[in-house]
Amino acid sequence: MRPTIHYGRRSALTLVLGVCVSLACSASLVAQAQAPLKSVSIVVTGGIVVTMDPQYKVLWPGAIAIDGQKIVAVDTPENIARAYRGAQVIQAGGHVVMPGLINTHTHAAMVMYRGLADDLALMEWLQKYIFPAEAKTVSPELVRIGTRLAALEMIESGTTLFTDMYYFEEEVGRVVRAAGLRGVLGETVIGFPVADAKTPAEALARAERFIQEFKNDALVIPAVAPHAMYTNDTATLTAARDLARKYGVPLLTHVAETQDEIKTSHDKYKMSPVAYLESIGFWGPATLAAHFVHVSDDDLAILKKRGAGLSHNPESNMKLASGTAPVSKALKAGINVGLGTDGAASNNDLDMFEAMRQAAFLHKLVENDPTAMSARTALEMATIGGARALGMADRIGSLEPGKLADLIIVSMQSARQTPLYNPISHLVYVTRGDDVRTSIVNGRILMRNRRVLTLDAPAVIADAVALARKVRAAVQPAAQSSTPR
Ligand SMILES: [Zn+2]
Repeated sequence: MRPTIHYGRRSALTLVLGVCVSLACSASLVAQAQAPLKSVSIVVTGGIVVTMDPQYKVLWPGAIAIDGQKIVAVDTPENIARAYRGAQVIQAGGHVVMPGLINTHTHAAMVMYRGLADDLALMEWLQKYIFPAEAKTVSPELVRIGTRLAALEMIESGTTLFTDMYYFEEEVGRVVRAAGLRGVLGETVIGFPVADAKTPAEALARAERFIQEFKNDALVIPAVAPHAMYTNDTATLTAARDLARKYGVPLLTHVAETQDEIKTSHDKYKMSPVAYLESIGFWGPATLAAHFVHVSDDDLAILKKRGAGLSHNPESNMKLASGTAPVSKALKAGINVGLGTDGAASNNDLDMFEAMRQAAFLHKLVENDPTAMSARTALEMATIGGARALGMADRIGSLEPGKLADLIIVSMQSARQTPLYNPISHLVYVTRGDDVRTSIVNGRILMRNRRVLTLDAPAVIADAVALARKVRAAVQPAAQSSTPR
């Protein structure tokens, strides 16, 4: 960011008094005296404010006043300056100010398996590599160190909320609290013994304890995450649904990801995965299903009727050659669709800017139509669309007074981003996670001018490097020749 000036209250006053020796300035002091400024915690001013509000308003330039956890005003820099005095003022000239990105599907700690097994189909990848690697290495320590690494990557690339499905989710919750991110965190329930539960019943009991520990947290929304219909039986899926309903928390799952899953569902239940889950009363407004690659119009009608949210994960679907989710159809049907990265083992990063770009390109190509997914639609899925899919659009996803202050400041000054005619085009088609300069979640600055304030970045990376040696040794004892970094 260009020189960013943070004035404390006293220094701002000193500055005003020091500079105000002219008549013009005296006049402005009189004006201030007539309309006293309201003190707020942060004012961000001078940037291009991309609100993603219902009118898709862009203020160029614009300003935002934040007080405590919430946005109190979004307006022109002049109007904000006339009404508010920020304890901290962030000059955002040459930058876009926008809602923080919402990742609707990931497995944060799986950054520890990044690059461990690539170029394989989902079932082979899962069954030969990922599930065995997890069986040998998942521990509270791996989840803690992996999620810290993921949190660092997410803060650095503009994600302010992520939806997680993993094991030892209480470790994820503690990292989220410390890092200052927002998280919808689902304890995984799966039909075979895993590191944190020998049986689905044990996993459900663990999920309930997790919900009780985090249900009143300011940043963590606990959830129940039955892995999929092909890895859980009917009794487990309905018990997971009941647990989510008992506490009024989200229910997260994977659905219709591959043709293998469709075949399994038809062989076992004589219907599609979506229809089977409908037959057991699984769907509801609090359910969020990732992938929906192989779904029919009837399946989409069920999801629409139940108000379920969906997460589109274009990079994971492409890398595993799972297929292409019918996103345009789902959006046209009025279903709330968010965007996700999926875990870093199948992506292989958590950069939501890249996910937006890949989503737009994928649907243009597959539908043979350059209008199939616009930059604005991709940006919407990554912001307010994700908030809608999570049932949180009243609180986050756009920059509007009254909403929680989850926002990012993104440089538009690189050679790659010059010239700048349309900020929304640039956000989707040229911006990378590294262009994010500052991140604010719940009114707290997590990263300022690329310096993450809530995590010790060198220590986070050093811990992950040390742990990666153990992962490599556990998974590929024969392949010790190349040392992981
Ligand atoms: Zn997944």
